Amino acid sequence: MRSALARFQFHFGGSLETANIFRSNGGFLFPGRGRRFIASSTSRAQQGNEQLLVVVGGGAAGIYGAIRAKTVAPHLGVMVIEKGKPLSKVKISGGGRCNVTNGHCADKMILAEHYPRGNKEFRGSFFSMHGPWDTISWFSDHGVELKTEDDGRVFPVSDSSSSVIDCLLFELKIIGVLLQTGKSVTNVSTTVGGKYIIKIEKRTSDPIEYVEADYLLIASGSSRQGYTLATQLGHSIVDPVPSLFTFKIEDAQLAELAGVTFPKVKAKLKLENVQRQIPQLTQVGPMLITHWGLSGPVILRLSAWGARDLFSSAYEGILFVDFIPDLHLENAKSILFQHKDQFAKQKALNSFPPDFGLVKRFWKYILEREHISGDILWASVSNNSIISVVSLLKQCSFGVKGKGQFKDEFVTAGGIPLSEISLNTMESRKQPNLFFAGEVLNVDGVTGGFNFQNAWSGGYIAGTTIGKLALDSSSEMEAV
Ligand SMILES: Cc1cc2nc3c(=O)[nH]c(=O)nc-3n(C[C@H](O)[C@H](O)[C@H](O)COP(=O)(O)OP(=O)(O)OC[C@H]3O[C@@H](n4cnc5c(N)ncnc54)[C@H](O)[C@@H]3O)c2cc1C
Repeated sequence: MRSALARFQFHFGGSLETANIFRSNGGFLFPGRGRRFIASSTSRAQQGNEQLLVVVGGGAAGIYGAIRAKTVAPHLGVMVIEKGKPLSKVKISGGGRCNVTNGHCADKMILAEHYPRGNKEFRGSFFSMHGPWDTISWFSDHGVELKTEDDGRVFPVSDSSSSVIDCLLFELKIIGVLLQTGKSVTNVSTTVGGKYIIKIEKRTSDPIEYVEADYLLIASGSSRQGYTLATQLGHSIVDPVPSLFTFKIEDAQLAELAGVTFPKVKAKLKLENVQRQIPQLTQVGPMLITHWGLSGPVILRLSAWGARDLFSSAYEGILFVDFIPDLHLENAKSILFQHKDQFAKQKALNSFPPDFGLVKRFWKYILEREHISGDILWASVSNNSIISVVSLLKQCSFGVKGKGQFKDEFVTAGGIPLSEISLNTMESRKQPNLFFAGEVLNVDGVTGGFNFQNAWSGGYIAGTTIGKLALDSSSEMEAV
């Protein structure tokens, strides 16, 4: 590998650093004086007079993007820098099963509706370029058989996230992407020639490494470091706040019902400081009572759509739950009046209409909230009590007093605004040859595989664009 010595100056975080640097014709920088040469460890990533892509982050978006770029342009040097273990979130995702994508959204408009941040922008070409079916095909073509469950969630047939990880890491290896783990990208700057100088650190005591890259893909998830890199390159950041969490409800009697599930409720979240109508703050679906309060798909969806407003409301609000959403109020009243007549000699706790689809433990809770003794015979239950029980079932209020600590499926709302990138290419509108993909963007989906789909789609589109640019560049060089 040929190389040239140069005295090099570059700005990092406001300070001007100077180093003697060997610049190989392959594009790496090898700083002198206490800084480590990384030629030997990187030579596999890049051979000959070719370009280099550096990917920050070995998560779903970064690894998928790296594989795609190298597939499109096999001569392109591709290096992934991962500060921890690669694909660590894939490992723990979906309870260790990895909910890879969602198989119930063939229409991209419907798919887009599952993204509280990104729903407008994703109605365009984003998923047409690489949607859930493309993801399913990709994994199946690479030996990971997937299955779609009744609710649309797609998992590996093995029910193990290791199948997904093994596949991606194997592919990465055989196509020659260099994966460097245990190293963080801590700074990025640009050269006059439009390249990226990337500062890589392992631990503070270790030598610092620098790499010069032609293309940079930032796929750092919700890491603060990733946001810092983006701001160094002129991007703004929408403040990150949590999305997808459970609601903490302070109600000792409710806590006793931990584990009770409801296949279908209609829940509406009211926040005092939010006056505007947000249709998505009403959701229908399964709900679960936990030791903390309330969880399940309905709650997680409300938390996602209300993520920003809940944050500014200090996670306090009122949740109204309709436990019998398929029964009209008057219909439900007449069912309970009929029940009273039919079971007049039975205790209120022991007998209640099966049409309500409730379990006895929860029925007891409802009676107690209405101060009706479970021992009272139906014959003695007043008409007013009947009406108030039905009203409570149709609109049961719970005070939300915080967010749960249990991270079922946790993502971050916020990041790089979508207006600052082109979704057709995933390229920055601020810097050429700079790309973003995955959760680092101001995108988050509800539960069901939508967050990984954002990572696969973004990584694939970025990788395709970078690969094509590298091909164009090499044919230009050949022509010269
Ligand atoms: C417990 C849990 C379960 C989940 N389950 C699901 C699920 O089943 N289905 C679903 O769709 N979504 C799920 N999600 C969400 C999903 O995991 C994320 O949306 C997805 O991982 C985002 O992918 P990403 O590549 O953008 O970011 P990440 O997966 O976060 O990857 C970013 C990587 O970049 C690295 N990194 C960051 N900064 C630097 C730096 N400066 N230098 C080097 N490396 C850096 C990080 O270490 C990390 O490995 C789950 C999340 C959690 C927490």
